Amino acid sequence: MSRPLTFRHLFGPGPSNCYPEAIEALGHPVLGHLDPLFLEVLDNTCAGLRQVWGTNNARTLPLSGTGSAGMEAAFVNTVGAGDVAVVAVNGLFGERMCEVARRTGAEVVRVDHEWGQPIDPERVAAAHPNPKVIAAVHAETSTGVRSDIAALGRLKGDALLVTDAVTSIGGLELLADDWGIDVGYAGTQKCLGVAPGLSPFTISDAAFERRVKDPQSWYLDLGLLGGYVGTAGGSQRTYHHTAPVPMIASLQAGLARVLGEGLDAVRARHATAGLALQDGLEEMGLDLFAAEGFRLPSLTTVRVPEGVDSAAVRAYLLKNFSMEIGAGVGQFASSVWRIGMMGPNANNASVVFVLAALKEAIA
Ligand code: PLP
Repeated sequence: MSRPLTFRHLFGPGPSNCYPEAIEALGHPVLGHLDPLFLEVLDNTCAGLRQVWGTNNARTLPLSGTGSAGMEAAFVNTVGAGDVAVVAVNGLFGERMCEVARRTGAEVVRVDHEWGQPIDPERVAAAHPNPKVIAAVHAETSTGVRSDIAALGRLKGDALLVTDAVTSIGGLELLADDWGIDVGYAGTQKCLGVAPGLSPFTISDAAFERRVKDPQSWYLDLGLLGGYVGTAGGSQRTYHHTAPVPMIASLQAGLARVLGEGLDAVRARHATAGLALQDGLEEMGLDLFAAEGFRLPSLTTVRVPEGVDSAAVRAYLLKNFSMEIGAGVGQFASSVWRIGMMGPNANNASVVFVLAALKEAIA
């Protein structure tokens, strides 16, 4: 017998709690993926995604799969054997980009940075004279750091700029076109306040023209997907794979909620909550991990105080408050906590709740 599931306050690195509208939409009747009614949902969703990406790219779509599917799609469609991919690494997700790029057969030039610091755009841009792709993570969830993607966009030359916006989309300023992002992927489960399962994806026309024509992944081949999402030109929609219909309806509802509140207002709410949490943690005498000036509002990293058992505190929070916060990653697994303020959770009540619960747990 399965155990009944219970409500959790999701203040970890994601998934976050979802907007009620997004959850409600999961219960709508399932439509066929070529039903005209559903195609309207899909078109609305793509239009909403253009707004949160800050792009006019026709090829902006919800990829089936989580953020990692987006990462995979970004690389298999842009690089292969004989191509060079420069990857900025300042945390786990930069590391993962290197591995995904390597598997395409591309030569990977990794540019390492200290974890907790932002990437250095000049060093990344100078790492190779002629890369096909330069890739970086906008909001590194493993360390809580924001990097300057616009600066990298100004320095990229002829390279295609691939950007991971999994923890920034819907919560931080993101201007794909203005910043020169050619290919971007994200996730639904963080600041967009929708369950995990889709990867908001965007690719410019110029990058699409320079794509790998016969990528090793059939499922994530953007050339084939265009026939279904309607980005291939013409109004004929052709079957590629069965779209996850309820997830897309849910994303449509989540986007409507975010855009209805207003992107600036939603971002301001994330900024205020993130800052209040960080101030509150410092007032408790705790040390923040991410470099000052580059801290993410959506994900705060804080050092576990000397003598405190990180896992025991997280277990206490789960048992007594039904609250999840995240452990650190890699060498910081037991010395850092990661606390998310994302989507509907990005508000002052959450900050007060988390600070009070944490204070009790470490007392
Ligand atoms: N990139 C970043 C920055 C992330 O935070 C995550 C997940 O947390 C991913 C990529 C991978 O996304 P997913 O776990 O949805 O596959």
